[in-house]
Amino acid sequence: MKADAKEIDQGDPEGHDLDPLDGGESVGSMDSDITRSYNELEKHYYDKLLSMNKEHLCFLQRDPRFHKETMCNVCQRVFGKTRHLLQHVTDKVKSGSDDEENHKELLHELVLAFTSMSTNCYELP
Ligand SMILES: [Zn+2]
Repeated sequence: MKADAKEIDQGDPEGHDLDPLDGGESVGSMDSDITRSYNELEKHYYDKLLSMNKEHLCFLQRDPRFHKETMCNVCQRVFGKTRHLLQHVTDKVKSGSDDEENHKELLHELVLAFTSMSTNCYELP
């Protein structure tokens, strides 16, 4: 029996290493300590926001910037204050409803805004 026809497929070379990274992008220059504390701060805010912690949210009452109308991007509902939006989002996240995941993303965005806001405060000269 003659069945030694070897077929080597060289038509599609897989995994060729083209590396066209000659742009001016520099990633990863951030201090890992800063990244870690940033992540911890982020988680901290997530927990506090989700539980609507009074101490962490009282600034929403004081700052007039948060007394403007704001909209939930997920269900297009308009809220009179940021705090009411936050209440709505955390309710949705905790309710386990169909749009829970979308509201979770929105909450995460809010947390990121909080986190960068507070880290910017620390960076003030
Ligand atoms: Zn919503």
